[in-house]
Amino acid sequence: MKYYSTNKSVPEVTLKEAVTKGLADDKGLFMPERIEALPASFFENIHNMSFQEISFEVAKKFFGEDIPEAELKAIVYDTLNFDCPVEHVSGNIYSLELWHGPTLAFKDVGGRFMARLLGYFLQGNTEHVSVLVATSGDTGSAVANGFLGVPGIHVYVLYPKGLVSEIQEKQFATLGQNITAIEIDGTFDDCQRLVKTAFLDSDLKNALTLTSANSINVARFLPQAFYYFNAYACLREQGITGEVVFSVPSGNFGNLTAGLFAKKMGLPVKRFIAANNENDIVYNYLQTGKYEPRTSVATIANAMDVGDPSNFARILDLYDHSYKRIKADIKGFRYSDDEIREVVKSVYQQVGYLTDPHGATGYKALTEDLQEGEIGVFLETAHPAKFTETVEKIIGVGNVPLPEKLAEFMKGEKLSVQLSKEFEAFKFFLLHK
Ligand SMILES: *Cc1c(COP(=O)(O)O)cnc(C)c1O
Repeated sequence: MKYYSTNKSVPEVTLKEAVTKGLADDKGLFMPERIEALPASFFENIHNMSFQEISFEVAKKFFGEDIPEAELKAIVYDTLNFDCPVEHVSGNIYSLELWHGPTLAFKDVGGRFMARLLGYFLQGNTEHVSVLVATSGDTGSAVANGFLGVPGIHVYVLYPKGLVSEIQEKQFATLGQNITAIEIDGTFDDCQRLVKTAFLDSDLKNALTLTSANSINVARFLPQAFYYFNAYACLREQGITGEVVFSVPSGNFGNLTAGLFAKKMGLPVKRFIAANNENDIVYNYLQTGKYEPRTSVATIANAMDVGDPSNFARILDLYDHSYKRIKADIKGFRYSDDEIREVVKSVYQQVGYLTDPHGATGYKALTEDLQEGEIGVFLETAHPAKFTETVEKIIGVGNVPLPEKLAEFMKGEKLSVQLSKEFEAFKFFLLHK
């Protein structure tokens, strides 16, 4: 399968090139040349299949031409050796809990898949690859843990100083080995800009083989489609019928875009909700048709603090830049920190379900917008314990259980390198480390 750039001014590339490059040379994002539908028989039988089996069928549609079946199966089965269950929350609203992976957030899926895929492509090579990843919290931990110990690959995690929680930081800044955490004196957007600039810098390109592990990378992005199919299968298995609406807490819009891919592959989804915090660039676009990126603002749902969502380019491409068609499939909602706090509190007190600040936006949008006959599924993108400080301020200290996996991370020692937000400093570090 070939991959083209959303800017369409460079030739198509192979999967291997798309994964090792990350971003296309014209700064566009890679898109698979075909998005094939799965057969009706697959959907008829989907509730009898495991998450791994479902994902393998979906994965074959994207990667089947480029990777031998047995290898692909091993990669998929290794990536998804945990569950993403659908839990009933209230009324017709269900939570798709994407926090059963190693770092308790949905990005574990793409992080591990990409590490395995890149590892496969580098097998038997002497070439070394440097993975650059900008994180507002969760990406760094998922990617770092996915790549930990994978031979031939070094990961640099860039994160904004003081803007990620201690728990998040512990999950990527304490690992050592082939993982280097870089604390940038700036915002998440500065981190993302440093990574994007690095890919365009000819000195760096000559000296190092660089790739990204943000959701701009197809190997991280595409596997996120898997769990939408899984959610549908879970509903079917529980005998729940109705038109499915997915509500997706969104930042860089990788997760939501993967859902749009799933729909294009035939998954019966009626529509999507894009839930934003105060970084409401896409919300405004959905209201007005104008896309106006801005500097991000810090919120209590910090993994969604994105001022210029990368994957928006993929949404435009998928819908041939038709505002009308995009609006028909996606509706936007935005919530302030106060509104998010209120939701976390009321769901916890009235329903007995604990959401994290991100998932809370998805839930809230469903309570406002779900229509008769619709089944709403919000993506619970991370475990609330990843945001303990924030959540306990809302529901009371001691009410967020600390999962064993997180307790282990907390014992580690921070090993970060400190840098300014100047590109030259970052470049110097990469060249002379
Ligand atoms: C990354 C992340 C998001 C946003 O996902 P995008 O794919 O960037 O839109 C939402 N919630 C949590 C917990 C995250 O880590």
